[in-house]
Amino acid sequence: MLNILIFGPPGCGKGTQSEFLVNQYNLKHLSTGDIFRENIKNKTDLGIEAKKYIDQGQLVPDFITIDMLGKKMQSKNDFSGFLFDGFPRTKKQAESLDDFLLKMNQEISMMICIDVPERELVSRLLKRGESSNRADDQNKEIILNRIKVYKDQTEVLKDYYQKQNKFFNVDGISTIADVKEKIFSLIDIYQRES
Ligand code: ADP
Repeated sequence: MLNILIFGPPGCGKGTQSEFLVNQYNLKHLSTGDIFRENIKNKTDLGIEAKKYIDQGQLVPDFITIDMLGKKMQSKNDFSGFLFDGFPRTKKQAESLDDFLLKMNQEISMMICIDVPERELVSRLLKRGESSNRADDQNKEIILNRIKVYKDQTEVLKDYYQKQNKFFNVDGISTIADVKEKIFSLIDIYQRES
């Protein structure tokens, strides 16, 4: 199985690259951001609760997010692995993910981090906010808060996966096609060697 974790700050291009990855490697895409947005759209209890945090640029509490993700992992069908996008975002989530996978006799194969400097992130997200109706992309303060949360709570996970020799960094400042090629080649090398 190929279990990929796509990682990086808000606006680094995880969603865009995830689309390419799921098609190329037949992965089941689990995007916690997308799952929350779907629940918000359908006004489920989960969506109503999550919205309070998301609109402020805060993380949804771990117990809600972990429970939701665990349930979504149960339907794998005939995929060749998972693509985790936007999860884990805290150490607690990373540990829970390891537990979930272990129970399935699985583990994370690679963490691929898309590296983009902060000033570029802010302008990308503000631009996305003009065309999407995402409340969290509309306002610079909220965007800066998301980047701060990433630095304070999420970025430490690079270390967590580095220690397991699973961390791979990709420069996210070139074209979408370029970033895609770089990620594909990292995965292809990994698959050839394992
Ligand atoms: P981004 O563009 O920041 O990568 P996402 O679509 O992944 O956005 O997530 C949007 C928001 O949903 C986050 O800012 C956060 O509030 C919430 N969220 C998504 N994933 C998680 C998670 N794993 N833990 C807590 N909150 C999350």
